[in-house]
Amino acid sequence: MTNSKVLINITNLSKIYHTGGTQTKALKGIDLTISQGDYVTIQGPSGGGKSTLLSIIGLLDKATSGEYQISDVAVTKLSESQMAKVRNREIGFIFQDFNLIGDMTVSQNVELPLIYRGIDKATRKEKVAQVLNRVNMTERAHHLPNELSGGQQQRVAVARALVGSPTLLLADEPTGNLDSVNGDSVMQLLSDLNEQGVTICMVTHDSRYAHFAKRTVNLFDGMVISNTVNIKQDKAGQHKAEQNKAEQIKPEQDNDKGNQQDVAELIPSKIQAGV
Ligand code: ADP
Ligand code: MG
Repeated sequence: MTNSKVLINITNLSKIYHTGGTQTKALKGIDLTISQGDYVTIQGPSGGGKSTLLSIIGLLDKATSGEYQISDVAVTKLSESQMAKVRNREIGFIFQDFNLIGDMTVSQNVELPLIYRGIDKATRKEKVAQVLNRVNMTERAHHLPNELSGGQQQRVAVARALVGSPTLLLADEPTGNLDSVNGDSVMQLLSDLNEQGVTICMVTHDSRYAHFAKRTVNLFDGMVISNTVNIKQDKAGQHKAEQNKAEQIKPEQDNDKGNQQDVAELIPSKIQAGV
């Protein structure tokens, strides 16, 4: 356990979708805290509620019930426009499909959130240069997204998410559209950023990447079934054993409810986080 400041505090959060007379309970009483400097991965089989939870944390969607505080602000009590302001200031989002604007250059894509915030041109230029340097994309500043590899595009998306110095960086399957070389490099980048102090919450079904994080939360059927602190992120034998074990988890399949047993069995016997 760390004594760092709590940034995200979620209590008994539920989400019900209503579609054409059908009710889907996507989240059922989630409790979760994320502290400053944390790196949390949310894992679990398809349909378990991972994206729903991340959208709510990122203020892209609203919970049906429960409490959610971000930096001590009770988000559930905010109006839509207040929520948009908090989202703009506090959250950086990275998506599986990068979501870059195709006819804008790398610099222009990264600059966009600063334009929305009404930041002056000179400051924008300086911040864009800094953040492109941070993700090692300075040389590609004037390229268009389709002139870049998938991994490079995701680096640009990371830069765009970071340019406004958000409190929290959220990523939903950021390596989902990448080959393993590009995926590894994006994961290394996120890991480096976390070491520099960026707080990260990432959804992934790729258990190979769980060990990059400090903590793993397993979601199944809308519930947190485990919340474990990952063993030291180095090449120590113990850690490697855990990693090998995690790799045995089957790839995600839709409607694969039978995975519960597998996931439960393979959760490494790590120190319980006790949040
Ligand atoms: P995951 O990201 O873990 O695959 P999701 O959060 O996308 O899971 O989905 C959780 C459950 O909520 C699933 O049963 C899914 O079908 C349902 N769901 C997700 N989004 C919607 C939506 N917009 N409308 C209705 N049901 C949804
Ligand atoms: Mg999802």
